[in-house]
Amino acid sequence: MKETREKNIDIIVPCYNEGANVDAFFRETQSVVSEVTGYSFSYIFIDDGSDDDTLDRIRALAEREGLRYISFSRNFGKEAAMYAGLRASRGDFAVVMDADLQHPPQLLPEMIKTIEETGCDSCAARRVSRKGEPKIRSFLARSFYKIMNRYSDIEIVDGAVDFRMMSRRMVKAIVSMPETQRFSKGIFAWVGFHTEWIEFENVKRLAGESRWSLWSLMKYAVDGFIDFAASPLKFAGVFGSVTAAGAAIYLLIEVLKTLIMGKDTPGYASTICLILFFGGVITTILSIMGEYIGRMYMETKNRPIYIEKESNIDED
Ligand code: UDP
Ligand code: MG
Repeated sequence: MKETREKNIDIIVPCYNEGANVDAFFRETQSVVSEVTGYSFSYIFIDDGSDDDTLDRIRALAEREGLRYISFSRNFGKEAAMYAGLRASRGDFAVVMDADLQHPPQLLPEMIKTIEETGCDSCAARRVSRKGEPKIRSFLARSFYKIMNRYSDIEIVDGAVDFRMMSRRMVKAIVSMPETQRFSKGIFAWVGFHTEWIEFENVKRLAGESRWSLWSLMKYAVDGFIDFAASPLKFAGVFGSVTAAGAAIYLLIEVLKTLIMGKDTPGYASTICLILFFGGVITTILSIMGEYIGRMYMETKNRPIYIEKESNIDED
């Protein structure tokens, strides 16, 4: 007998200063999902400490449409917002979507179909074009994926965005990861489960501007890499020992030269070069270690990932 129970899907929407977009997002998404049969949909809006009218609009929507929301006491970042949404999710599936309609709701039926047909735990979207994006940004992004996939513990698909539908058990696995410095692209890959990819063309955000400057993206990339790779530490070790071995050989040559050919005039230039070189090597290695130690320090504080200011969801 075929199972008749309607499955529910939670749509999780992180919003930071999206006052101009939340209503349009809801309308557009609703018009797509109302056509889908066999599933019921509910929304969890996360107001990530916006300082525009986002929260007012979400509250109004909540009243009118009976949807759930959580509002943070300040801006904690999209990672924290996604985590809060996933934690609050109770549906058979959860899907994370941007509020600016850059994640086309039209893909939702395809995601559901893919999960139904393949029985996979996750269906994620992948941008195939980077149209409308500055060249330097695309170049840096590509390089990031190459380095990440070569030197870290996990494999990240180029162009993967955070638009992803996941089964309950995958959501549970993600929420069970307690780290406070979160890098979702890595976490999604790390928890495993089979992921199917669907492709889409880049879409421009509806209103407002992206919060990501080139600098913040680079910082995010470094953070993500360090979160999932210990290889820089190994690299520091190898680099350190190779240069130390080189220095020992050089010393030996100098000693032999002095013994065989007698004392020659000392060369200040080469001495200064060596001092500077090793000074540089040591500080580089120390700063790589510092990055990891800093992260350990932050994690040991065990601070909550976000702080709630207001919500209409009952804690269990
Ligand atoms: N966002 C958030 N907290 C932040 C920054 C962004 O919740 O601190 C949300 C934002 O409202 C949007 C999504 O994350 O729904 C993606 O942000 P944005 O469009 O700025 O990033 P981009 O699409 O340029 O990667
Ligand atoms: Mg966007």
